[in-house]
Amino acid sequence: MKEELINADKFQLIGQLAASISHEIRNPLTTTRGFLQLMARDNITAEIRNKFVNLAIESIVSANTIITDYLNFAKPNVEKIVPIDIKTEISNSIPLINSLLTISNIEMHIQHATDQPLLILGESKKLQQCLLNLLKNCIEAMPGGGKIMIHTSLESNLILMSIEDTGEGMTPLQIKSLGLPFYTTKDNGTGLGLMVVTSLLKAMNGRISFLSKPNKGTTCLIEFKRIS
Ligand code: ADP
Ligand code: MG
Repeated sequence: MKEELINADKFQLIGQLAASISHEIRNPLTTTRGFLQLMARDNITAEIRNKFVNLAIESIVSANTIITDYLNFAKPNVEKIVPIDIKTEISNSIPLINSLLTISNIEMHIQHATDQPLLILGESKKLQQCLLNLLKNCIEAMPGGGKIMIHTSLESNLILMSIEDTGEGMTPLQIKSLGLPFYTTKDNGTGLGLMVVTSLLKAMNGRISFLSKPNKGTTCLIEFKRIS
């Protein structure tokens, strides 16, 4: 019955999300329509036309991101549950954002407290998606550059992982709002990233929490059950 209640809760949330997503997608679509209409005028220069094309595309990309995030939440889709090693997943995720780290002037340090593999039951692609969402948030919190530290350790049958940044941090009130659909402090944020992370991690028996101080930085703590 508890499970049914949880499912009912989730369906309700999915329904609410679907309603707000329709609303959220209407904005970029309206923007795109506006730019297409402007482009249809004959008295505009090639330069301005180009600008409108780019703005229209940007809006479509943003609508697409919202839909992708929503689908990931509605159907976390962790289907191919197999043993995966947290350390391998971390080192496979880094190359995907390396260039972003370089242009953002961010140093990355990785430290593992144990030589043993850190095996969990999960899906490689989905775990990497979580890591990338979290790392992207760290990067976006450090517009002037900074440091990201990833640390893993083992405590009896628990795998502990932390991702720490030296970014703008959050107030206690902001921390409370994390993971709420559409909660974002960014001009072009979707506010769906952490909701997706939480839901994917849950499907892999992981738990996530945050420690943060404004202007000091943020530490994200993730806990997994280890399999042997
Ligand atoms: P988005 O990145 O699209 O805003 P998220 O769900 O990924 O959506 O994050 C929601 C909000 O949480 C962000 O807008 C930001 O305010 C805050 N946040 C998340 N991670 C961090 C971090 N590492 N440092 C500071 N703020 C963060
Ligand atoms: Mg994000």
